Amino acid sequence: MNKIDFLSSPPIGTVVALDGQEYEMISSAPHQRKDGTPTTLLTWATQCPDCGRPFQVTTGLVTKGLNRRCADHRQALKPVSGRRDLVRAKVIAR
Ligand SMILES: [Zn+2]
Repeated sequence: MNKIDFLSSPPIGTVVALDGQEYEMISSAPHQRKDGTPTTLLTWATQCPDCGRPFQVTTGLVTKGLNRRCADHRQALKPVSGRRDLVRAKVIAR
């Protein structure tokens, strides 16, 4: 599982794991999009894999991914674990 896709708001305390990083849903709140469509915002609590500092990310019910790191360590496209490095190594070897 590497994306969030809920039909409706999951219960508070729901934990999802993305590539081994756990996110706990701590709140959901009704939200109105710019076009006026009602939706729900979910707030997730997780820990930065670089420094261990807890931080929160907010998503809609459906999102492609979640920030893995706190604001200090956020780096676009940098993988957390070695898993994706292995995939990349295979591609290079070919
Ligand atoms: Zn950090």
